[in-house]
Amino acid sequence: MTEAGKHNLAGMSRQRLRELFTELGEKPFRAEQVLKWIHQRGVLDLDAMTDISKVLREKLKQQAVISLPDIVEEQLSEDGCRKWLIEVTSGSRVEMVYIPEAGRGTLCVSSQAGCSLDCSFCATGKQGFNSNLSVAEIIGQLWWANQKLGGFDDKKERPVSNIVMMGMGEPLLNFDNVMEAIDLMMDDVAYGLSKRKVTISTSGVVPAIDRLSDYTDASLAISLHAPNDELRSSIMPINRKYPIASLLDSVRRYMASLPDKRVPVIEYTLIAGVNDHRQHARELAALLQDFPCKINLIPFNPFSLSDYRRPSGSSVSNFRQILQQAGYTVTVRTTRADDIAAACGQLVGAVEDQTRRSGRYRQKAAEQAGKIFDSTDNLAVAADRL
Ligand code: SAH
Ligand code: SF4
Repeated sequence: MTEAGKHNLAGMSRQRLRELFTELGEKPFRAEQVLKWIHQRGVLDLDAMTDISKVLREKLKQQAVISLPDIVEEQLSEDGCRKWLIEVTSGSRVEMVYIPEAGRGTLCVSSQAGCSLDCSFCATGKQGFNSNLSVAEIIGQLWWANQKLGGFDDKKERPVSNIVMMGMGEPLLNFDNVMEAIDLMMDDVAYGLSKRKVTISTSGVVPAIDRLSDYTDASLAISLHAPNDELRSSIMPINRKYPIASLLDSVRRYMASLPDKRVPVIEYTLIAGVNDHRQHARELAALLQDFPCKINLIPFNPFSLSDYRRPSGSSVSNFRQILQQAGYTVTVRTTRADDIAAACGQLVGAVEDQTRRSGRYRQKAAEQAGKIFDSTDNLAVAADRL
C-alpha cells in the first residue's frame, strides 16, 4: 500500500495481483495483462494499457497507482559497467550495478538501505541500517535497468540475464519483499529469468534459509569468509548466533529441496593477514569436504575507514591453488568498474543509520554523500563470475 492507502501495482506479484482483481470483482487474468504492460513493455501509465477497458482503468485508478523509485544518479564505467543510485521512500539512496560480460548481463540488486549485521569488512554494514526496500523498490531496479538499456524494446535482446542479490543489505532480513520481488524476476509474464540465474546472497540467516524452500527455488550464495567459528565470529557478528555447522546444515536442506541438481556458491572475501593464510585454505578445504559447492574468492575491496588490506596477487593464487588441488571449482572475482567505485558489498549510497551504532561512519558517510559519484576509490564489482 502507498501512503495514500492505494495499492502499488508495480510491486505486486502475479498471485497478489490476481487476488486484487478478484477482490475488485474482476477476472483474475487481468493480473497477467497488467504484469506484461509494466514488466515486459515498461508501461507505467494505466491509460496506455489498451487491452483493459476504460471502465476498469478508471476503477483501478481509484484503488491503485503504479509507482517506482526515481533514479537520481547514473554512471558509466569505461568497461561498460553502469551504476545507478535510486532514491527510496525512506529518503535513503541505494545503489545497483549492471555488469555486462560476454553472453550475459548481471544486475547486482540492493535489498535494504544499509545493513544491521555489521560485518567488519563491509562498507554497507558500517553505515548501519536504515530501512527495508519495498517490493517496488527492489523490482524497480530491474525495471530501470531494462528501461535504461533498451530492454523494453521488442527488437532488442533483454540486457539483464542474471540477478545477484548482492547489493546493499541482507536480503533474508527483508524476507517477504525479497521473495515477492524475485517471484516477479522469475515469472514468465514479467521478466522470466531462470531460477539458476537469480541468486540470493546471504551472510547466513539460518531460520530464513530454512523457510526459503516454501517460497522460492532461486540459487543461493553464502558469505562464509572464514573456515572456523572463532575467526568467522570475529569478522561476522551473525556467526555468534548461527555458527558455521548450523549454516551449512540449513543450506544442505535447501539445496536438497530443489527439484534440480544445483550447488551453492561459497563466497570468501580474502583479507590480507586476516583469513588468507595457506592454513585457512586447507581448513576451508577440510570444512567443505562433504559439502558440494563452488567457491568464489573475492579479494577484499578497500574503502575509507577500513584498515583491512587487499591480499597480493600471489597470496590469492596460492589460496586458490590449495582449494583447486583439493578438488574444488574455484573462481576469483575480477575487478570491474573501478573507475566508478561500483563494488557490491561496498555500496554505500546515502543512508541515515537508524541504529545509531556507527556514529563515526555516519559522519563520514554524510560527508561523502554529496560526492559519492566522484569517488576514485579503487573498488571492484563483486558480482560477476558466479
Ligand atoms: N548481505 C549479503 C549480500 C550483500 S554483500 C551477504 O552478506 O551475502 C555481497 C558480497 O560482497 C558478500 O559476499 C559480502 O561478504 C561481500 N563483501 C562485502 N564487503 C566486501 C569488501 N569490502 N570486499 C569484498 N567483498 C565484500
Ligand atoms: Fe550486511 Fe552483507 Fe555487508 Fe554483512 S556483508 S554487513 S550481511 S551487506
